[in-house]
Amino acid sequence: MHLENANAKIYVAGHRGLLGSAIVRQLRCAGFQNLILRTSKDLDLRDQSATDIFFEAERPDFVVLAAARVGGILANDQYPADFICDNLSIQNNVLQAATRVHVRRLVFLGSTCIYPREAPQPLKESYLLSGPLEETNRWYAVAKIAGVTQCQALRRQHRCDFVSLMATNLYGPGDNFDLQTSHVLPALLRKFHEARVLEQPEVIVWGSGKPRREFLFSEDMAEACVFVLQVPEEELHRVAPDGLLNVGTGQDVSINELCGMLRDIVDTRCALVHDRSKPDGTPQKLVDVTRMQTLGWTAPTPLPLGIEKTYAWYQKHCA
Ligand code: GDP
Repeated sequence: MHLENANAKIYVAGHRGLLGSAIVRQLRCAGFQNLILRTSKDLDLRDQSATDIFFEAERPDFVVLAAARVGGILANDQYPADFICDNLSIQNNVLQAATRVHVRRLVFLGSTCIYPREAPQPLKESYLLSGPLEETNRWYAVAKIAGVTQCQALRRQHRCDFVSLMATNLYGPGDNFDLQTSHVLPALLRKFHEARVLEQPEVIVWGSGKPRREFLFSEDMAEACVFVLQVPEEELHRVAPDGLLNVGTGQDVSINELCGMLRDIVDTRCALVHDRSKPDGTPQKLVDVTRMQTLGWTAPTPLPLGIEKTYAWYQKHCA
């Protein structure tokens, strides 16, 4: 059942993360004030009984499951067990507890890395489980595939209104700028910034620079989540009978093209040096956004504008 009452109780799991914090801002902006928020210190969602007790006590009407262990291509390689174990636990605990207390709609955050490495582009929702995965992030991908599939099973057996949103590479204010664990956009933004400030002649870019990625501003993704919460059930079921919705801009850029944009915005002339000992990952990740467009949503923020806003945030808070 969709969100229409401003007093509805909404639990945003992972509200301190890049996306979760943006969702909280969007919900408040849209007039939804009855939010339930818990830090991971107060509620460890990997702990099944703690999660059950929390859901029994709070009985939220709506849930956005944005809590997850996330990270870039190297973090996936270094912490494979954390990526698969933590995500499987968090999802399983929340999805089962939400089923038990009859949550009216739950939005599960998937990722475009769930699609097979060699799938045709743009990636349609129907390509799920149609081929082998990309190796570099299969730990995370398998966990997310399990979550998406679990949502489908709960829809089918218990008529739960659980929807999965497959987000492309997110970036924005509050991002992780750690050079070892972050995704490419915040990592390179920081590297270009430091090159300018420290007058370094070059910036190290991992891999060949040829892979193509689709970047989505976190505030836009949050807007999409709040939008989906409000779509009437029949309409959602008509457009996404399997409960899957890709969320992206519908446009991708190569890592080298991204570097060009970042260099202009940060205003540095430094050279790019490719470190080919680092992996390229999947050659392309571009999603088909027809379903979200049919529902009436398109991403409003062009990539250069999103980068400018993220860079302004970075300069104020991290630089
Ligand atoms: P992916 O989308 O799961 O592959 O994850 P990332 O966002 O971490 O990486 C995307 C692409 O950017 C890969 O081809 C990386 O090798 C490349 N890349 C280039 N420089 C960097 C960097 O400094 N950090 C990261 N994380 N990726 C980089």
